[in-house]
Amino acid sequence: MTDLTSMTIAEAKAGLANKSFTSLELTDAHLAAIEAARSLNAFILETPDQARAMARAIDAKIAKGEGGPLAGIPLGIKDLFATKDVRTTACSKILGNFVPPYESTVTSQLWRDGAVMLGKLNNDEFAMGSSNETSCFGPVVNPWRREGSNTTLVPGGSSGGSASAVAALLCMGATATDTGGSIRQPAAFTATVGVKPTYGRCSRWGIVAFASSLDQAGPIARTTRDAAILMHSMAGHDPKDTTSVDRAVPDYEAAIGKSVKGMKIGIPKEYRLDGMPAEIEKLWSEGAAWLKAAGAELVDVSLPHTKYALPAYYIVAPAEASSNLARYDGVRYGLRVPGRSIGELYENTRAEGFGDEVRRRVMIGTYVLSAGYYDAYYLRAQKVRTLIKKDFEECFAKGVSAILTPATPSAAFGVGEKGGADPVEMYLNDIFTVTVNMAGLPGIAVPAGKDAQGLPLGLQLIGRPFDEETLFSLGEVVEQAAGRFTPPRWW
Ligand code: GLN
Repeated sequence: MTDLTSMTIAEAKAGLANKSFTSLELTDAHLAAIEAARSLNAFILETPDQARAMARAIDAKIAKGEGGPLAGIPLGIKDLFATKDVRTTACSKILGNFVPPYESTVTSQLWRDGAVMLGKLNNDEFAMGSSNETSCFGPVVNPWRREGSNTTLVPGGSSGGSASAVAALLCMGATATDTGGSIRQPAAFTATVGVKPTYGRCSRWGIVAFASSLDQAGPIARTTRDAAILMHSMAGHDPKDTTSVDRAVPDYEAAIGKSVKGMKIGIPKEYRLDGMPAEIEKLWSEGAAWLKAAGAELVDVSLPHTKYALPAYYIVAPAEASSNLARYDGVRYGLRVPGRSIGELYENTRAEGFGDEVRRRVMIGTYVLSAGYYDAYYLRAQKVRTLIKKDFEECFAKGVSAILTPATPSAAFGVGEKGGADPVEMYLNDIFTVTVNMAGLPGIAVPAGKDAQGLPLGLQLIGRPFDEETLFSLGEVVEQAAGRFTPPRWW
C-alpha cells in the first residue's frame, strides 16, 4: 500500500513522535491494506471502528506528550487472545460467537502502552497445526510464492494469520502463541521475526489454553528490533497466572546492536537430519559464519535426546489439550447442539464443534492419560521431557550462550500438500522447534535467506532461561548479514 505500511515499528515511533503523521493516518493506511488483502484470509475479524477510536484517543495523548512506548502503533491480535467485547473464537466452531467480557493480560499491556488493535488474526483451530489449514475460517495464504508459480502456499501455523499479516504489511506487528513452534515456524515461512519467550515470561491469562505447560505468547514482527519493542510490552509478571514469573522485564531493545564477541554458540549435531535439503544445511553454515565474523565462537554440542522430542511432544501436548478442551461442552460457551439428554448434548456439541485435527488430539490425549496406558505413554513422555531439558542445561553449563539451528526442515509448502493421508507428515515440520517448548527455553526465528525457488528460510537461536536479550543481540547479527526480505505484492 502506501509508505505508511512498509515502515518498521521503530520508524513509525519516530514519525509519530516528530508529527510526520498521526496514528489515525497510520491506522487508516493499514485498514485499507487489510481490505485490499482479504484474499490472504489473514484477518478473520476487522475492527475498524475500534481501531480508529483507539488511534484518535492516542493521537490526543501524543499531542499532550503522554504516549506510551507503543503509542499509535497498529497491531493484529491472534484469535487465541481474549479481547474484551470483541469476538474471540480460537478459530473453532465450538466457540461460535463467543465475546469475552475480559481482556487477556498480554493484550491489555499492549493497549496500556498505546498500541491500536486492527482486528483478530486467523490461526489453526485451538492452535493445533503447522500450516493454518485447521482453522474453521479456512486456510491463510502466504504472501510469498515460488518464483514463476501461482501455487498457493501455507504461511505455517498455528500463528499463520499473524505471520502472513505482518509479512504482507497489513499490520506493524502481531501477537502470537507458541506451544510447539507456532511462532517460530510461521515466522520462518514468511521472512518475519518470531520470538517464543521463556516459559513464564508472558502471562497466559486470557489466552485460550492448548497445552498449558508449553503455551507461551510472543511477538511476530518484521525486524528483530521491532520484536524486542513488542516483547517489552508483552512480558511481565501477572498474579492472575501462577506460572508467570516475577522478574524485572529488561530493556530488550537495548540488546539490539550489542556485541556478541566471545559468546559461545552451540551447533547441535543431532539437528543435522538425514535427507535435510542442502539449502537448509547451507543456510545453517552461513548463519554460523556470520556469527563467527561478529566475534562469536562456534562449538559443537550434543543434545542426545533430540530424537525423542517430537514423539514426546505429541503425547504431552494432546494430553494437556484433552484436559483443557473438556470445558467446551455446549453449556458454558459458544455452540450448543441439543440432544435428548445432557450427555447427548455434550456429544453432539463436541462432535459438531471440533474439527478433525482437534478431535484427533482429544482422542490421543484421552488415550495416553487413561488407566493402563498412563505409565507407558504420558509418564514416559514426561521423563523424556526431563532428559531433553537436561541436555540443554548441560550444554549451557559448559558456557554456551545460545544454540544455532535451522528453524524448519523445509520452506513453505502448498495448501493441501501435507498431512492429508498421514498427520505425522505435518507433525514432522515441528522437529526443530518443539524441543524448546519441552525445555521451557526462549527461542527466536530470524529470516536468513531464500531457497532456490525464492522462498524465505529462517534460522533459530535457542537461549538460556530468561536470556531473551542474548537472542535479540544474535538475531540482529543474522538480520544485518542476511538483509530483509519482502514479498512482491500480487494480491
Ligand atoms: N504444530 C504444533 C502442533 O500442532 C505446534 C502448535 C503450536 O505451537 N501451537 O501442536
